[in-house]
Amino acid sequence: MPRTIFEHMSALCRQSGAINLGQGFPDGTPPPELIAAAQRALAERSSQYPPSVGIPELRSAVCDFYARRQGLSLDPAQVVVTSGGTEALAAAILALVSEGDEVILFQPAYDAYAPLVRRAGGVPVMIPLAPPDWRYPLDRLEAAISPRTRVLILNDPLNPAGTGASEAELGGIAALCAAHRLTAICDEVWEEVRFDGVPHRSLLSFPGMAERTVKIGSAGKIFGLTGWKVGWIIAGAELAAGIARAHQFLTFTTPPALQWAVAEGLALPDAWFAAQRTGWAASRERLRTALAGAGYVVLPNAATWFLCADLAASGIPLDDRTFSDRAVAEAGVATIPLSALFEGAEAPASIVRFCYSKPDLVLDDAARRLACFREALC
Ligand code: GLN
Repeated sequence: MPRTIFEHMSALCRQSGAINLGQGFPDGTPPPELIAAAQRALAERSSQYPPSVGIPELRSAVCDFYARRQGLSLDPAQVVVTSGGTEALAAAILALVSEGDEVILFQPAYDAYAPLVRRAGGVPVMIPLAPPDWRYPLDRLEAAISPRTRVLILNDPLNPAGTGASEAELGGIAALCAAHRLTAICDEVWEEVRFDGVPHRSLLSFPGMAERTVKIGSAGKIFGLTGWKVGWIIAGAELAAGIARAHQFLTFTTPPALQWAVAEGLALPDAWFAAQRTGWAASRERLRTALAGAGYVVLPNAATWFLCADLAASGIPLDDRTFSDRAVAEAGVATIPLSALFEGAEAPASIVRFCYSKPDLVLDDAARRLACFREALC
């Protein structure tokens, strides 16, 4: 199996002390409400195995959260708590993909998708999206569907592009899934990290999709607590039960204190989530302005903790991998080359991703280093 680009870049940072704008995680003060809730749960609640599908309080809190924020009407029987979004993906793929099944992936694709599909015996069928807008080519999607296609994986909002699918694109994808009886695994872990003012809409809510969608969510992204590894899948009760069977042989369950804390966190008022988003938006604008001021051409962004820059348009004569390798070694800043999230000939070779969810001083220091680095290259 390939080594993930995120771990590769973070290991280089640990060795060299470079600033890590590669792997996506906020580094700053974690939300005190969540930390206090986890401390209380550790002191007062059981530390023994919780139910494999998650504690009932968290499964209910997930339903209440989505009722409030996305207008979904869910039953706790539709929720399986997992050890993060990646385990949710693994459980869903293991439950749904069998030997020889074709699975449609849009590229850039989060690096776990294709290796998990192949481990399950499936065959990834890649559909590349193109910068700077990363629109979904519905005609190409329709042409890619064969009698062996079973599953489609959709990441919306899209990491690393930082864009959201339009209502029309979602409608088109949903219609094709329903017409061809595909199950959609929807990695929606960035649902709360959107800045375009567009309310998040899950594929789950489109006609014919309630029984053929697996929606994946992550407390790591919702609260900026990526190391907690608390996530979940939502699916029709029967589908959820099948995924629960796969999950029981992966991690079986997830630390109970963290489940209790996330259940409390999901009940925080909307104003709390709005304030968190305002903080992220300010960091995003700070890095965007600094990069643009240093001559980097930053692509449009509507969501996620990431900004992408086009190296060729910025006058930088390096491909993305060379830039990332040299930036970490010479400028002391880690980035992610987007071609690492593509397979095949259509990978763009000129785009790198920067994670902006960092304290101001870190962003300012990184931007200064990147400015000098570009200056030296151009
Ligand atoms: N989701 C994170 C990112 O895109 C990476 C997670 C991981 O390292 N496994 O940066």
